[in-house]
Amino acid sequence: MTLDHGPHRLEVARHHSAQALGVEPFSKSRGAGHVAEDHGDGLPDLAWLRPRRVERRAAGVAEARACGVLLPACRAARHALSLGPHSPAYSRCVRHVLWIGGAPAAGKTTVATRIARRHGLRLYGADTRTWEHRDRAIRQGVAAAIRWEGMTPEERWVTSTPAEMLELSLHRERGPMVVDDVLALPPSPLVVAEGSTLPTAVVQDRSRAVWLIPTPEFQRARLEERGLPRGARELYLLLGETIEREAREADAPMCVVDGERGIDATLAAVERHFTAALTEGPVAESVTERRALLRETNEAVVAQVRGYYARPWADGGPDEVVRRFLCECGDPGCDLSVEIRTGIADLTPVLAAGHG
Ligand SMILES: [Zn+2]
Repeated sequence: MTLDHGPHRLEVARHHSAQALGVEPFSKSRGAGHVAEDHGDGLPDLAWLRPRRVERRAAGVAEARACGVLLPACRAARHALSLGPHSPAYSRCVRHVLWIGGAPAAGKTTVATRIARRHGLRLYGADTRTWEHRDRAIRQGVAAAIRWEGMTPEERWVTSTPAEMLELSLHRERGPMVVDDVLALPPSPLVVAEGSTLPTAVVQDRSRAVWLIPTPEFQRARLEERGLPRGARELYLLLGETIEREAREADAPMCVVDGERGIDATLAAVERHFTAALTEGPVAESVTERRALLRETNEAVVAQVRGYYARPWADGGPDEVVRRFLCECGDPGCDLSVEIRTGIADLTPVLAAGHG
């Protein structure tokens, strides 16, 4: 297989984060069928921390109530949350979910994707729901969501302050939406849910949640690599600080990503952390089930691209946009992705050369 390092890989990463922010359109087609080994974000090292315990229970209750995590998808969870988010009843409702939160550019998507493929889990990536969440916020009358749609790129990323950008990013509003999405998924197989918008209120069972926290130096370097506009980089750095503070306040298990070792070390640490849950399952057992999960993941990316181009301010169309899609062969050992036009991935299963 062709290894895909260097500028081309970085370009894909840049478009991924740019699109999640609505900064700029995707790249146009550079030719379909290019096979790339998924080295993801090419990450670093980690060190497990034991964060200070800061009145975990009281803070968790206050935060859950403040951000409105009331879980309409699960009545029992809503009732349990009214008693306290650490109640056994609430934990049972979210027991099929492994949560990977943390700052932008920490490697969450790469780690979650590899775990999902290797073990046969359903993957939920909050970034793939960006436009759906923005629409939901608009329907709810969230002023920042309505304002953002009418802004020019310059107003969004140049003249806004980082604090304004944070508000416009809907970081706080999207947390409960993520929880709603995840609780609406089938209870089997296990779900691995990742995203920087995950609320720390979901950290009920510390063996089923981890927050990836990059050091500021590492995060800055990764954001430079992605070639984002200055405003977007400032937003991500502020998000990084905010998310780390939230994780410490919630006493979430944290994995520090500092750039000295690779993504494999982060992956191994997260897998070790989830060992009991992965052993308990349920996980997909058959190739057919694995293929269906991979199709679902690829369809979520297609929906993300289509969602972007459906915005009234977006130029161009989604079909010719090249994105990286997972090989759908269903082999637990397959770690390959294929760069292919969205319009093609929408219509047919994606398979790396020689797979399937
Ligand atoms: Zn494959």
